[in-house]
Amino acid sequence: MNEDDSQRLAQLYALKGYEISDNREDSDLVIINSCTVRQHAEDKAVSELGRLRKWKKAKQGRKIIFAGCAAQRLKKDLKKRFPFLDSVIGAKDYKDLFSRQDSKILSQYPQAKIFNSPISDYLTIMRGCSMKCSYCIVPAVRGPAVSSDFEEILNSAKNKVSTGIKELILLGQTVNCYKDREKNKTFTDLLKALSEIDGLERIKFMSPHPLFFTKDFFDLFSKEKKISRHIHLPVQSGCDKVLSAMKRGYKCADYLQIIEKLRKADDSVSISTDFIVGFPGETQKDFEETLKLAEKAKFSFAFCFKYSPRTDKPSDISDISDLQMSKRLSILLEKVKEISKKVFEGRIGKTEEVLAEKENYGKTSSGFNCAIIDSRKVKAGEKVQVKIEKTAGNKLYGKVLK
Ligand code: SF4
Repeated sequence: MNEDDSQRLAQLYALKGYEISDNREDSDLVIINSCTVRQHAEDKAVSELGRLRKWKKAKQGRKIIFAGCAAQRLKKDLKKRFPFLDSVIGAKDYKDLFSRQDSKILSQYPQAKIFNSPISDYLTIMRGCSMKCSYCIVPAVRGPAVSSDFEEILNSAKNKVSTGIKELILLGQTVNCYKDREKNKTFTDLLKALSEIDGLERIKFMSPHPLFFTKDFFDLFSKEKKISRHIHLPVQSGCDKVLSAMKRGYKCADYLQIIEKLRKADDSVSISTDFIVGFPGETQKDFEETLKLAEKAKFSFAFCFKYSPRTDKPSDISDISDLQMSKRLSILLEKVKEISKKVFEGRIGKTEEVLAEKENYGKTSSGFNCAIIDSRKVKAGEKVQVKIEKTAGNKLYGKVLK
């Protein structure tokens, strides 16, 4: 979502006459779009800001904007700590800022596209989050969940497709709880309407929350092949006690049942996830349950993180030492690697739908990078059926089925 926000900021400044530059020395304005989901991300953004002091001093008229979630969290102190900062745009300001944006901006200012794929683009369909996961700062910095207007989303999607976009990645903190209350439209209604757009070949979404899967969704998913067969479904822990302390609202069995339903709808589905290790109170035995869940779920990959407290409240500080967390993290990463290797190997001999991003290279509907290894040239934007022959270095290799 931060990448999409950065792109929208770039479009907004394109309207004011700015262009994106790779070279800071040639630039008149630097915008840092920050993240605060973990302390490390926030620290990185803030230290980058500190380093810009020299850059600003070196030439008159240079400007710095600090934006995003860390900007929202630190808003009050930032100007005091960094008096050379020109402006602060918190994540909560984005909604108003972007709602003034003409949805046709992208076609008028193609130079403002910073998401580096000629055929794929993001589409934010909701902002904020109304869940209360105990480790998460997102609801505080982005506010409660607010869904965008159904028709506006469809218009944006059509505009993007008219510029050559073939794949849309729908974004939202809990994307599948999307609801346009006024028009009584659900996430499934949106997927259905999007799948009817001519020229749009693939629809991805991230990240869904296990609590918001509906029967309607599974029914549509089983028959609408434009919906990507890769689902990133954060689980966070494989231990019911920890999930309850995290206030995630589901148990491991519920999570595994969703995966089962997705795979029943289409056995080519691949599932990836997020894990947090070292949550306060997580025992070695609890952690081992996470390893077991990873085995059962057969994830194609997982983002694994050490727990990072976002407040100074004693209850938020983990009783698990950093060393212990690091040990658990490396054990989990090793386990995920082992599982993922088997998942990749399991694709050999299977037929996968590949949407090419560039010549003879693209992603399968199930989310794997795939190189096409035959003499036929498959161009960017082409969709082909590929028989997988081998796998190496997190990539599948295959030949186009004639
Ligand atoms: S659902 Fe996601 S964004 Fe919302 S509070 Fe939980 S972890 Fe944070």
